[in-house]
Amino acid sequence: MEDPAIEKLAETQKGDAFQVLVATMLSAQTKDAVTLEASTRLFRLARTPRTIERLTVRTLERLIYPVSFYRNKARHVKETCRQLIVRFGGRVPTTMEELLTLPGVGRKTANLTLIVAHQSTSSICVDTHVHRISNRFGWVNTQTPEQTERALYDAVPRRWWPLLNLYLVTWGQNVCRPVYPRCGACAIEMLCPQVGVTRIGKS
Ligand code: SF4
Repeated sequence: MEDPAIEKLAETQKGDAFQVLVATMLSAQTKDAVTLEASTRLFRLARTPRTIERLTVRTLERLIYPVSFYRNKARHVKETCRQLIVRFGGRVPTTMEELLTLPGVGRKTANLTLIVAHQSTSSICVDTHVHRISNRFGWVNTQTPEQTERALYDAVPRRWWPLLNLYLVTWGQNVCRPVYPRCGACAIEMLCPQVGVTRIGKS
């Protein structure tokens, strides 16, 4: 199975923390292929806080289109670059508390940046795939990604924390899809309680 966009990008950019942060900001509610193309277009032109901050919002919008909410994301990326320069000497912060002060950065973006860019072993990044599949597995019984993140710290052995996002996003994009999961073709069907699964897709 193909790696998710952020892992692919981190590999090609040798784990550059700034590019991981920006690509993760662009990825919210956007398909992986679109995120990858938009990030590549942007980084071809500018790849540091200083060079991106110099671009106009209009140029940023044009470069990252058609990611979802590209207008908001363009403004957030530019302002984040400015704050990285002014407050953090151009570097990406290494703590959740500091990352959350940047515009457009929520827990999902912060956790993925900590894991992929800063090799954190004490973070779990919960997106829609991790939230859905953790509930289908019966590991947690939660309503929101924030609740899932908190519950997973208790439910999952620590050594798996930084890997959960990579594994479950890949699984969710290919097998345990949001609608019509491919349970008939799933290698772990006999182990899975399939909590809340009502409609199964073709194998
Ligand atoms: S059996 Fe179905 S619900 Fe369980 S992990 Fe596989 S695809 Fe997902």
